[in-house]
Amino acid sequence: MDKLIKGLHHVGVAVSSLDDALKSYRSALGLEPTFVKEVKDQKIRVASFRLGESSIELFEPTDPTSTVAAFLAKRGEGMHHVALAVDDIREALEAAQKAGAVAIDKEPRIGAEGQLIAFLHPKSTRGTLVELCQER
Ligand code: ZN
Repeated sequence: MDKLIKGLHHVGVAVSSLDDALKSYRSALGLEPTFVKEVKDQKIRVASFRLGESSIELFEPTDPTSTVAAFLAKRGEGMHHVALAVDDIREALEAAQKAGAVAIDKEPRIGAEGQLIAFLHPKSTRGTLVELCQER
């Protein structure tokens, strides 16, 4: 698995108000977002902060039926997932499943920045939702 993972792509943090979170990140950390955008099919609004090779993504639900709204109701604000950079998402997804990880996405789909992404269920990755992420 080592060679399949190239690095930390981003950390995803669920927030109840993106505007409030942006204020906090500006004042407490001096960070300005690289972009803020709505991802309609995931029913979220995302702000991304580039930090070297990686980034932090804050996202708020834009609709009560969003899975992020369900996450916030259950767990509150905080870290939602860790995204790992891969060169070949199909190969990484297959290797993870062969090793016993449970794929939420059996096939890669398109992420917020147009990357290919696929999630692994946290019950098979020690309690943390893991996203595999391939730049295109
Ligand atoms: Zn992500």
